[in-house]
Amino acid sequence: MKLDVQPFHSTADGLSGEALRDLAWLDACLSPVEAHLETSRHFLGVNDWRAAWVRGELVLPRYLFMGPRDGGDLARVAIFAGIHGDEPEGVAAALRLLLELVEHPEWATGYCLQIYPACNPSGLRRGTRESAAGRDLNREFWGATRQPEVRFLEQELSDGDFQGLISLHTDDTSPGFYGYAHGAALTQLLLAPALARVHPHLPVNHGEIIDGFAARNGIICDAFEGILCAPPQTAPRPFEITLETPQTAPEAVKELALALAVQAILAEHRKLMAYAANI
Ligand SMILES: [Zn+2]
Repeated sequence: MKLDVQPFHSTADGLSGEALRDLAWLDACLSPVEAHLETSRHFLGVNDWRAAWVRGELVLPRYLFMGPRDGGDLARVAIFAGIHGDEPEGVAAALRLLLELVEHPEWATGYCLQIYPACNPSGLRRGTRESAAGRDLNREFWGATRQPEVRFLEQELSDGDFQGLISLHTDDTSPGFYGYAHGAALTQLLLAPALARVHPHLPVNHGEIIDGFAARNGIICDAFEGILCAPPQTAPRPFEITLETPQTAPEAVKELALALAVQAILAEHRKLMAYAANI
């Protein structure tokens, strides 16, 4: 697949020093995880993002994990983390999830998972919400953006034919865990058990207003414009869930909560699909 993306930080002589530092930083984060993933026969590989960067083309790391089959077709679900660079918890949770899948591939039974653990590498290295270009990437989707990270992800979302999208975030103002439910009608049915799974570890935000939106039992059905989601014309819609962990909790608890919520969503979706197939 040839990607139509803008060169990023590249010059006539190749990558800028900043982009080279982003590349080295991300490589140092991801290489140990990749070495461990290679030991699993369920791990189908990572795209060649490093070589693309060296060519001056922004490709975000994408890990492919195929769970054991359960008789039916595999459901394709994508998991995105780190689109806000000051939210490293999601990145850690996505990597934790990948490592745990090596030990417990059965958690992904019936799924082909595409995991994008670092959607805003320049922001993550700098610890800023925005990318190095000064943009909030999670407000740029499907609006003719010029941001190469978003254009890459839009292409992946168009090509992926996903049944589900899960985005991992952190909220620095919420006292508890919560989530946004969009897309397919069944999305709320998937998010409720995920919040229940998190509850023993972190409180759920039961506020009536969260992040400026009406909420019920920790679930918001509204959304900001331009967030990561399936292409506008997609039908039927995949389930689209954004998980938000409170920033104030200890690191290990935030990671665990996000990873448990993802596992709960996959388990519940599998159950609902099996149920639907039998009626
Ligand atoms: Zn965020």
